[in-house]
Amino acid sequence: MVDCLFCKIINRGIPASIVYEDERVLAFNDINPQAPTHILVVPKRHVASLNDLSVEDDQLVGELVRRAAAIANERGISAGGFRTVFNTNRDAGQTVFHIHLHLLGGRSLQWPPG
Ligand code: 5GP
Ligand code: ZN
Repeated sequence: MVDCLFCKIINRGIPASIVYEDERVLAFNDINPQAPTHILVVPKRHVASLNDLSVEDDQLVGELVRRAAAIANERGISAGGFRTVFNTNRDAGQTVFHIHLHLLGGRSLQWPPG
């Protein structure tokens, strides 16, 4: 997707602080972190939102979730706890329409979110 910010990061058109990469997944630090750890885990294949997922994406979504957990473990925040969030569309505040799993941790997080 030419006009997608995260596709540009994936294709190295825009710099990012990358923390993990494999053939299907990229993870990078959020530019505006809301917690000591705030990482975005994204598929390299463009999918606009959770509303656009199909059954063929099930494995990919599982990889995003497992990767977030693995990064949390590397950072030593697994036992204390962390939050993983997919925002979808306007009411949830989605601003980048390429699915991304937020990994937030390193501090106590409030619930419910705003
Ligand atoms: P959303 O609101 O769509 O769930 O999350 C989008 C996230 O992308 C926000 O947390 C925002 O800070 C982050 N973001 C926006 N632009 C950039 C950018 O150019 N680089 C990085 N690393 N993160 C970005
Ligand atoms: Zn994209």
